Amino acid sequence: MFRKLKISVFIVLVLLATALAYAQDKAPRYIFMFIGDGMGVAQRQIAELQLNSKPGVAATHQATRLKMNSLKILGMNTTYDSTSIVPDSASTATSLASGYKTLSGVIGLKEDKATKVSLISEHLKKNGLSIGIISDVKIVHATPAAFYSHIDSRNKYDEIASQLINSDFDLFVGGGGDQHFNPLKRKDGQDLYAEAKTKGFAVATSRDQFLSLKNGTKVLANLPGDVNSEALPYVMDRTQGDLNLDEIVSKSIDLLSANPKGFFMVVEGGKIDWACHANDTGAAIVNMLDLDKAIGVALAFKEKNPDTLIIVTGDHECGGLGLSMGNTYRVNPELFFSQKISHEIVDERVKSLSEKKELTHEAVFKLAEEFGLISLSEAEKTAIVNSIADEQLADKNRIKTLYGGYRPVSMVFKRLFNTRANLYWTSYSHTGIPVMLTAEGMGAEKFAGYIDNTDVCKILSRVTRAGMKW
Ligand SMILES: [Zn+2]
Repeated sequence: MFRKLKISVFIVLVLLATALAYAQDKAPRYIFMFIGDGMGVAQRQIAELQLNSKPGVAATHQATRLKMNSLKILGMNTTYDSTSIVPDSASTATSLASGYKTLSGVIGLKEDKATKVSLISEHLKKNGLSIGIISDVKIVHATPAAFYSHIDSRNKYDEIASQLINSDFDLFVGGGGDQHFNPLKRKDGQDLYAEAKTKGFAVATSRDQFLSLKNGTKVLANLPGDVNSEALPYVMDRTQGDLNLDEIVSKSIDLLSANPKGFFMVVEGGKIDWACHANDTGAAIVNMLDLDKAIGVALAFKEKNPDTLIIVTGDHECGGLGLSMGNTYRVNPELFFSQKISHEIVDERVKSLSEKKELTHEAVFKLAEEFGLISLSEAEKTAIVNSIADEQLADKNRIKTLYGGYRPVSMVFKRLFNTRANLYWTSYSHTGIPVMLTAEGMGAEKFAGYIDNTDVCKILSRVTRAGMKW
């Protein structure tokens, strides 16, 4: 009797040990990789500070965390590429997708600009997972493209679009970008939408079309874009016909989870980078919060599906954002609650006022208020008056030196706003500051520590059993 009990206990223990080993050995079935383009530590901090502020009341603590800052595992990534310590999105996204360094501007190829690197997305597809690539900028832009394309220049958008159609991936959602698929807009007149349909894609070019797609359909969605159709509008400029990232991720989960083997979903908050280039702090904050909401959708999904891995990182920092300047120990992100429009809208208004010969001081002061600069001081008015004069500057180099290549009026608006908030952007371009990575879920602990961006891909391959080799 006693002996029998001993044997039963032994068998139970063996079974438990096997189950435990199996559980430890399991690969995540659902993988989310969120990339905040240009998103460094300061960007994550300013958005979290605003979350802890109220209009008119500065944050005094950080009791409320961004979802991305509350993930259990914390790491840091170096982001240099083969060209520079200050890299671009093509090379850094290639590193995240392939585990290789390459030159700035190059996607999915080694430094010789010819040898293809294999991508984590390609390997996971081979293993049976569905692949979804999502961005709030056009889907052929560098970061999303690095997960499906191999090309020597990130600017060859029409060719990247052709590579997209010929990939066997399952879902592509971007903002704008119609010009690279529409036969009436493409230089070679090719109808990539028609081609996409013959390859089994359902094509959506509006919010309603996208939301009405059926589960299990292959998807190409170019959602209505901003003024230049290069991206979704900034979140603060969006209207009813626009989708936010959380809605896109939510619908994409429905579409991809028809596959019982799981999915790999890359989600880029690309316009964070554009706001940082333009030093538009208010737009950057609101777009950061948009990405964070989408991460919330992934976290809710993980609650129901424990075999999920969520990774959040940036491809590089952009703008060299400093939170406080001069001798003053303060930063006031709460001021940005009053910003109602982005620099893109300001530029449109200035352009139209200019064309109508109505670019008067009063009209621009009014525009400044609409932007969020309430109660202009005399010194601020003088700075704005000078910027109006500079709108007529024909010398491009001079505009570059004085305003980073951006339009004078909107740049001065942003500078005045940033000065009020006591923060400073050191650059209109990327920087060499490392980025923060956070992760949660199955295998997340492997991403901890100070690692290179190429290691993010190598670890991801090991954790997901993707089978990549270097
Ligand atoms: Zn950039």
